[in-house]
Formats: sequence, structure tokens, C-alpha cells
Amino acid sequence: MGAGPGDAGLLTLRGAELMKRADVVVYDALVNKDLLRFAPKAAEIIYGGKRAKEHAIPQDELNQLLIRKAKEGKTVVRLKGGDPYVFGRGGEEAEELQAARIPFEVVPGVSSITAAGNYAGIPITHRSYSSSFTVVTGHEDPNKDDTSVDWAWLAKEPGTKVILMGVDRIRQISSELMKHGLDGSTPVGMVRWATRGRQKSIDGTLATIADLVEKENFGAPAITIIGDVVKLRPKLNWFEARPLFGQRIVVTRTREQASQLSEQLIELGAEVLEIPTIRTEPPTEKGALMDALLALGEYDWIVFTSPNGVAAFFEYFFKGFEDIRALGNLRIAAVGPVTAAKLRELHLRVDAMPEEYLASKITEAISAFESIENLRILLMRAEVANSELPGELEENGAIVDDVPCYRTVPETEDVNGNVERLFESGADWITFTSSSTVENFHARFDLPKLKKQFPQVRLASIGPETSKALHKIGVPPDVEAPEHNISGLINILRDSVKRP
Ligand code: SAH
Repeated sequence: MGAGPGDAGLLTLRGAELMKRADVVVYDALVNKDLLRFAPKAAEIIYGGKRAKEHAIPQDELNQLLIRKAKEGKTVVRLKGGDPYVFGRGGEEAEELQAARIPFEVVPGVSSITAAGNYAGIPITHRSYSSSFTVVTGHEDPNKDDTSVDWAWLAKEPGTKVILMGVDRIRQISSELMKHGLDGSTPVGMVRWATRGRQKSIDGTLATIADLVEKENFGAPAITIIGDVVKLRPKLNWFEARPLFGQRIVVTRTREQASQLSEQLIELGAEVLEIPTIRTEPPTEKGALMDALLALGEYDWIVFTSPNGVAAFFEYFFKGFEDIRALGNLRIAAVGPVTAAKLRELHLRVDAMPEEYLASKITEAISAFESIENLRILLMRAEVANSELPGELEENGAIVDDVPCYRTVPETEDVNGNVERLFESGADWITFTSSSTVENFHARFDLPKLKKQFPQVRLASIGPETSKALHKIGVPPDVEAPEHNISGLINILRDSVKRP
């Protein structure tokens, strides 16, 4: 399966559909790891590419792995960068499967051949400049006699030239092309990590590009595009013109909650590193939850104090019941708009919601609906939650069952490799959306120390409570959102990096 060039949105629909059915996913270094989220939680995820300091799984071992997993009766997705049949050994792997009589399907992908130019403002054909293109590998030494690329021919070919895997040899390649008659003034564009937030591009001419690569410390993976079409870059460079392009932004929410913020930042061109510091797990003790589920009909109200609570409760609910009507006539209270939105996804309307998240306000919201005296109220909350809310409800005469349906634990793993990237080269921003994201992030990484190591990192806070938490650990926020919600946070980031 082709994963496309990097931007997760460039996976095909067929690809996404098949990912959802995978028992095993074997992916390569160029694959955007965000795509692994399409696979079922239970799927086995195997890294099959090169790692920085380790060697790749040798190709024959990898072939054997695919065959072995398939023979166990599993649906195996072999996920490769770009298109699987473009310089990716996809053909060889498919031949092996065929020889082992394993049925397979090949899902094409958007290749970096066209996507890289597109995201850097370079159409590889254009009626005024070029009506053909040639793609070659730059992997081999052009000075070798037995090179499989005919550089002399390529130099005379009038169309656009696209070179994959050619960064390390760019000096030899450009001089070889000039030697065979291609003009030194021919425009050249190079695009690294194309279509991702971390995309970098440079342009020059055949005569200057090698020096530029050295000066900019440009490295793989990159595509080189040679030809007059590169002149269109200033006009067509839509991706790099996005307001947050070039900004590396850390998102500290849990995976479940991060998507809204992350998606919008990515849409604005940012490179997003999701680094959740907590994750949710089932409660240690499920007895109370099971009892409550069996006795739902006995309650008047169910109260949710977080989207996590909603997700966890309904996961168990639907394990026991097929029909949402098993909720009976329960009335529903939500602590705020985000929790309410999670309920609306299930087409459930919220009967009471306070304006502010305060125990007293929740009690008030319910009593605005009916008298609390003798009401039976089910609180669906985290395992460790404060006693203020049940206390307040009980004081007003309610009979309260405070039932844990999930617990939060510190995240200790680097599931997407983002922690490593942060500590390798820092970031432009770290965003905090609550005081607890501050506390958890600090507990995991020691914020003041991180700021010392990467002084350019700026901290963005969603509002006063979050800022207070930052002040408390001695790293005041660089910016605070004037409006204390996700859009407010995004707006302040946009304003802070405004380009002329
Ligand atoms: N099958 C892939 C190509 C694999 S060969 C495809 O269809 O795109 C690996 C080379 O592809 C890299 O060395 C680089 O030249 C190019 N490449 C792949 N993805 C890239 C990206 N996102 N940005 C720039 N170059 C990329």
C-alpha cells in the first residue's frame, strides 16, 4: 500500500479502508506515523525501515516476515512511502508474495515525484515550459561506467528532470549534466520532507545548487526538480505561504483530545508534534461501573464531567446493550461544551449544563431543571476525582453514586517518535490547554530545564489558569490567548508569527 508522500490527507480512500482491516501493519521510514491511527487498536505495528542508528531489517527477512504473518491467516498491510512501485522494492515484495502463493492487492499511492513539486510551487509540466518529464534515481555514482542512468541523454532531453535519492550526489549529478550540455543557468528546485509541516525547499541553478545544499545543510529525503518549471515557484508556492508554515508546535493534550487543535494547526501549515503526557486506562475496579450499568433505570440523572468520561462510559454501555434506549429516561448533565459535544456525537441532548465548571454551578444547573431533593444521581468520572461535586449534591438532598469509569495515568512511551524529535532539535512553540497539561508535561520533562536547553522555545497558554500553572514552575508563558479556547490559542499563535 502506498502511504502517499507524507501529508496524511494524501492516503487514498482505498488505503484508509484497508488499514482499518489490518491485523498487521509493516511500515517504512518515510511513512507518516499518523496514518498508523487508521489501524485497529489491536493491530500489530512493525517498523520495517531504516532507523537512525540501527540497520534496516534486511530485505529477505522482511519478505519472510510478510509471508509468515500472512500464512498465520492475518491481513497484512505493507505500508510504503509514496507509491509502492516507485523506487521502493514494492515490485520485489509482490513477487515474493506471488511465489509463496499469498493473495495480494497493490494500492497505489501519491508519489513524491509529483507531490513534492506541487507543495513547493512547481508543476512538473506546464504548456509554456515543459511537456514531458523524466524521473531518475540519483542513488548511483554518475561517474561510474556501468551506471543505469544515461546522464548524457538526460542532459539533452528537453523536459523536466526529477531526481529521487539524489541529495548526497548533487554535485556530481549537476556537473555531469552540465558536462553533457545542460546550461548552468537551468533552474533547480529541491524539496525536503515534502508535503509535511517540516517541508524545506531551496532553489538555485544547476551551477549553484550544490553549494546551496552544502550551505543550507540540506539532506535526504529530498526531490530535485530541474527545468524551467521551477521559475513558477514564486507564483504557485501555496503550501509554504500558509501562516504557520515553518513553525514546529508541540501539542500536549491526550491523543483523543488533541485532534481538533492539531488538525487546525496542520491546516495552517505548522509542523505538529503531538506529545501527550497522560493517557486513559480502564478503572482499576470495575465492579461499581458494572452495577451502575445494570441499574441504570433506577437513576434520575447521569452526570459527565469530561469527554473522557463520556467515551469510557459508552464503551462499556455498548458492550452490554445494543440499543441506546437502554439508557431509559435518564436525564443528562454535562460539565461544559466539550463534554456536551461528545454526547451530541451520539445524538444525545444535554438537559443541564452550567456556565462555569464549578461544583456549585452544576448543582444549580440541575436544580434549575427540577428539585434535587431525593434525586438519584449517577456521577461518571475519573477514578481520582475531588469530592466537592458529590458533596454538594448530597447536601442538597440527592442520593449520589460516584462511579469511576476510567483513570488517567502518565504517558511514558514515545509512541510516535515525537519526544525524540523534540529533544533532538527543540521546537518553536509548546502549547498548553489546561493547568493539568502544564503539570503533567513538567512532571515528565522538567520544563525549566527544557527551556534552558532550547531557549528559542516559546510557551503558549490558553488562559489565566494555565498561565498561573506555568508561573508556578518558574516558566512564564510567552503568550496567552485572549479568548480562552482552541480558536483563541490558534489566533494568538498566528498573530505572534505574522510575516510581512
Ligand atoms: N516510493 C516513493 C519513493 C521511494 S525512494 C515515492 O513514490 O515517493 C525514496 C526517495 O523518494 C527519497 O530519497 C526522496 O528522493 C523521495 N521522497 C519520498 N518522499 C519524499 C518526501 N516527502 N519529500 C521529498 N522526497 C521524498
